[in-house]
Amino acid sequence: MKPAVFLDRDGVINVDTGYPHRIEELEFIAGAPEAIASINASGRLAVVVTNQSGIARGLYGEEQAHAFNNHIQDRLREWNARIDAFYLCPYHPEATIARYRQDHPDRKPRPGMIERAIRDLDIDRGNSFLVGDRQTDVQAAQAAGMPGYLFTGPRLDAFIKPLLSSS
Ligand SMILES: [Mg+2]
Repeated sequence: MKPAVFLDRDGVINVDTGYPHRIEELEFIAGAPEAIASINASGRLAVVVTNQSGIARGLYGEEQAHAFNNHIQDRLREWNARIDAFYLCPYHPEATIARYRQDHPDRKPRPGMIERAIRDLDIDRGNSFLVGDRQTDVQAAQAAGMPGYLFTGPRLDAFIKPLLSSS
């Protein structure tokens, strides 16, 4: 079993421009690639858990969201950094697209994506934590029985380094 650092995506790894989904819109949060490289170096898994209700709202498709994630992964190579797994939740209770209209257990503040990652990747829950930029991220972590830390900027590497050395 390995511990993990769970990361929200928009507002933590990349700047939240409002439903970002075009690869040319990708702009890293300051220090985010360096933070991910330091998670990798610590022996923990780096796992993204992201609500993507833009899919439910019909703003973009799942393939486009996956392409955005792949682009993040490609760009991280410059820093020798990598995300070990991406989980995204396309559902929303008020979706305009019927097949995404449900109160899904994956949608944060519910812990479904975290629980799935723990099973898929054999994660050591007791030594893992989450970093997000909204209370719903922190609530999802707490529902999964781990600490959640609210990132308020400006640099993700400066925010995460003390968390990596104290846990
Ligand atoms: Mg966010």
